[in-house]
Amino acid sequence: MSHIFPRAPRSLPPTAVRGEGVYIYDSTGKAYLDGSGGAAVSCLGPGDRDVAEAIRRPSETLAFAHTGFFTSEPAEALADRLAAHAPPGLDRVYLVSGGSEAVEAALKLARQYFLEIGQPERHRVIARRQSYHGNTLGALATGGNAWRRAPFAPMLVETSHIAPCYAYRDRRDDESLQAYGLRVADELEAEILRLGPETVAAFVAEPVVGATAGAVPPVPGYFARIREICDRHGVLLLLDEVMCGMGRTGSLFACAQEGIAPDIVTIAKGLGAGYQPIGAALCTGASYDAIVAGSGFFQHGHTYNGHPTACAAADVVVTKLTEGGLAERAGTMGGRLRDALEAAFGQHPNVGDIRGRGLFLGMEFVRDRETKEPFDPDFGLHRKLKAAAFDAGLICYPMGGTIDGRRGDHVLLAPPFIIEDDHVGEIVKKLGRALDTVL
Ligand code: PLP
Repeated sequence: MSHIFPRAPRSLPPTAVRGEGVYIYDSTGKAYLDGSGGAAVSCLGPGDRDVAEAIRRPSETLAFAHTGFFTSEPAEALADRLAAHAPPGLDRVYLVSGGSEAVEAALKLARQYFLEIGQPERHRVIARRQSYHGNTLGALATGGNAWRRAPFAPMLVETSHIAPCYAYRDRRDDESLQAYGLRVADELEAEILRLGPETVAAFVAEPVVGATAGAVPPVPGYFARIREICDRHGVLLLLDEVMCGMGRTGSLFACAQEGIAPDIVTIAKGLGAGYQPIGAALCTGASYDAIVAGSGFFQHGHTYNGHPTACAAADVVVTKLTEGGLAERAGTMGGRLRDALEAAFGQHPNVGDIRGRGLFLGMEFVRDRETKEPFDPDFGLHRKLKAAAFDAGLICYPMGGTIDGRRGDHVLLAPPFIIEDDHVGEIVKKLGRALDTVL
């Protein structure tokens, strides 16, 4: 009998024993092509000797030094490297152990910043429906996915949620993409004015929405308008790149493709490439300086902040993504995977939309392509698809509630950046087989 408390106790998963290239093998020897990098985590694949060596060194020489007492060479090196490649102005790096921790740190940093500069009324957070920002209570409150929030609703701090930028469903026929983007971005201004600008601390958004919407990119001009609105009302722009960042969309930071810089950006997942649990919140010198000049102390922290082995691994990962050209490769291979998906499923009667950027791609399923009517949630399309794909030897990331937390189904594909052309064909073939089984 296992003593593990699994995610879904009624369906116990197989035991993973090794990885090779883009494959994971279970204890029976069955191979699974990792078409979603777990949950957009694995970007290098397993067995990278440079990362393994980077982890070994601090394990043997330092292991641990609490950040309440010390900084460390691996943490300094990683922060330097991230700052060198970060969006303009973001040059301070707060290191944590994962995505939810990064979001919690960012939210508290935004709040404390306003305390330090003498605007103590600013505490409200505005985010978007159909976003996911993590499962800890602060991050969960920020996320806008109704299904994930519902059981814990009485425990969540009040947060405003405006519309996502979701052109496939919400753009009107008489609207250009740009006009649609401005209309939904302007919801932010309306909500800031409704709440009272002097009470709003931050607006939080994923540049490309991942888990809960299926790789939904913004339309041109959307984030430029969002930046303008935040600036006009003194609200901090917090971009959550935990899933879409670290090269996944073809650039190290996803927001680079929007031509804007946030005040705070969160990263995790691909930062450790699955080798080590690590995340970070990067902020501007202005936010940092406000704390230095004010209380001199960020009232936050976790025991494992800036862990040396995690930082050493992440420093090698970021080097490979940037100098090693792997982020760029995600852009190129993403184009090929997208073309292959279009060729195989572009005319499929139940595929309504194929979307995304780089190796961060999604397909939304519909009962009817004309009306965009979704499948009945009771049919459980996403659950069935996940099981059928897994049977066929493909790991992908289907999810339900795409439209409103209840209706709609999509699948997210986010394979490692080392993927080759043959793997692209294999993903499409196995996904097609799984879809045939389910539909
Ligand atoms: N933010 C985004 C955009 C995510 O996709 C996730 C996880 O999927 C998180 C935050 C939470 O990250 P973690 O699961 O590492 O806590």
